[in-house]
Amino acid sequence: MQSTKPHAALLASPGMGHLFPVLELGKRLISNHGFHVTIFVLNTEASTAKNQLRDSPDSSLLNLVPLPPVDISGKVGPDAHIVTQLVVMMRESLPGLRSTISAMKSRPTVLIVDLFGTEAMAVADEFMMSKFVFIASNAWFLTLTAYFPTIDEMAEDEHIKEQQPLKIPGCKPVRFEDTLEAYLDRNNQMYDEYTRIGREITAADGILVNTFEDLEPTTLRALRDSKKLGKIAKVPVYTIGPTVRQLELPVMGNPVLDWLDMQPTESVIYVSFGSGGTLPAKQMTELAWGLELSQQRFIWVVRPPVENDVSGSFFTVGKISDGTPNYLPEGFLTRTKDRGLIVNAWAPQTLVLSHPAVGGFLSHCGWNSTLESLTNGIPMIVWPLYAEQNMNATMLTEELGMAFRPKASESSGIVEREEIEMMVRKIMVEEEGNRIRNTVKELKQSAHKAMEKGGSSYCSFSQFARECEISLKARAQGA
Ligand code: UDP
Repeated sequence: MQSTKPHAALLASPGMGHLFPVLELGKRLISNHGFHVTIFVLNTEASTAKNQLRDSPDSSLLNLVPLPPVDISGKVGPDAHIVTQLVVMMRESLPGLRSTISAMKSRPTVLIVDLFGTEAMAVADEFMMSKFVFIASNAWFLTLTAYFPTIDEMAEDEHIKEQQPLKIPGCKPVRFEDTLEAYLDRNNQMYDEYTRIGREITAADGILVNTFEDLEPTTLRALRDSKKLGKIAKVPVYTIGPTVRQLELPVMGNPVLDWLDMQPTESVIYVSFGSGGTLPAKQMTELAWGLELSQQRFIWVVRPPVENDVSGSFFTVGKISDGTPNYLPEGFLTRTKDRGLIVNAWAPQTLVLSHPAVGGFLSHCGWNSTLESLTNGIPMIVWPLYAEQNMNATMLTEELGMAFRPKASESSGIVEREEIEMMVRKIMVEEEGNRIRNTVKELKQSAHKAMEKGGSSYCSFSQFARECEISLKARAQGA
């Protein structure tokens, strides 16, 4: 007998910042609406995904399917930007997606893709599935992405050459320095891929976006105003955020949590640059000095430095006398051992941010990290590195007032130790820090309200689920 509940297939692109929110969305579709869910991941992501789903609500309703491996060598040059590589990986996985769906006994009725999976909507059409795009970022970024193709050529002159802001009707303009790297070079494949994605988004049956009404009221109003944004506004937008990772399963005897347990309330600043962020060596030295000089407690997720690649890769590092890695100042670990903790490469971030001892977050402001900070009421110091993070930083500091932004020195181009010291003190112990702490606590309440029964994101998510149910019924009647 045909199930009365929709079967949603979610396709996640590689990288934790993409994978985690898709998994959370899948879990919510099961726990809130009893959907059957299949999550397609690239082969390389399968074990991370499996690990993240350990605590999933009902494993009989959740099916994790790794797609057949793909080989992109020969399809992209060795120096291709990470975005181009991601897009090509997703493209190469389409035949595997098609054959996997085709072989499924119980085929999904809905396909939800993320930003880099929009080409898969053609596969949804082949199987008569409804198709949705999930933007694991904010509405401002969504609006820019969907609007950019309409200003494509004009943007080259005004935005790229004259460095004018990108004007999106009804929205805050995007300053030149905040723009996506993808939009700066029309000769780079990434430019074409991004404009294509922007066009494809508007062909979806709906867009899910990880924000909430009270966070971005102006942008959301513009996004739904066809006089301002034309055909973009015709696509229903469902605000379903903040969809954040549930707390990771606490690990007994985790040294980071044990250390936090010994610190006073709201006394620790957590420093992390997301799943892939890296800094050049000089910048790491300044950051280390800044943390030390601030005399505040800190947890710093440290990765070896990478020059000229902020979305970095990893080096093997040598150690010097007191065990301090050689890219940090000599003796740093010894001098800060009573108030600082260095974590190698990866921290249990959801547990750290929800710990009462944490009172600030120095972050690259990836959208997942931002929402994790917001939902825990933690003010931020923003340190954007790539993708839409400059836009996020501007929004957090200038619109939402929940973050401070350090300035890089004009001569060296790096953020120097005195500036970092000042920022850390400001957020942790000064009155201005208290002010933004209160602001972010209010945002936390409003996020909570949006997600609870009757709240804007709760209702929007239910509306989306209803649309899936309606199209399932229509399918059944047509069959
Ligand atoms: N994360 C984590 N531990 C780390 C670094 C990152 O758990 O040491 C998680 C973080 O909680 C978030 C995700 O990885 O859920 C990173 O996503 P985000 O959008 O913030 O940044 P991206 O990594 O995509 O740049």
